[in-house]
Amino acid sequence: MGLLEDVVVNAKTAVNAVGKTAGKIVDISKLRISAAELNSEISKRYESLGRMVYDAQKTDNDATDLVKECVVAIDDLYEQLDAVNEQISAMRNRTVCKGCGAENPQSANYCSKCGRRLYDPEPEEPSAAEEPAEAPEEPKDE
Ligand SMILES: [Zn+2]
Repeated sequence: MGLLEDVVVNAKTAVNAVGKTAGKIVDISKLRISAAELNSEISKRYESLGRMVYDAQKTDNDATDLVKECVVAIDDLYEQLDAVNEQISAMRNRTVCKGCGAENPQSANYCSKCGRRLYDPEPEEPSAAEEPAEAPEEPKDE
């Protein structure tokens, strides 16, 4: 009489799996949209910054303060963009190197680009499948 229970359990498992995947996709696309919005906002700020400097030059005005404000705003947008990109990487099971910004697989302990430690290795690592990052070719000695 365990048939019904099996069906229920299987259904639950399936729902869980779908829910997780769907959640991931939705979040990543949302994050991608905000990243795109931030990028276009940054472009706009650059454009207005350029126009500001141009106008100031043409009209012989001092735009230093305005330029400073613009730079602060752009820096702020870049910070937001970094945060969003970091989240996207995390969702794609990627780790962003804090040193050079390169994406590495989450299983990696060190950055493949600059060699920086990505995070402190945890003492317990229950990894089901061990995937070697690189398989060194053994020299054939005959
Ligand atoms: Zn790096």
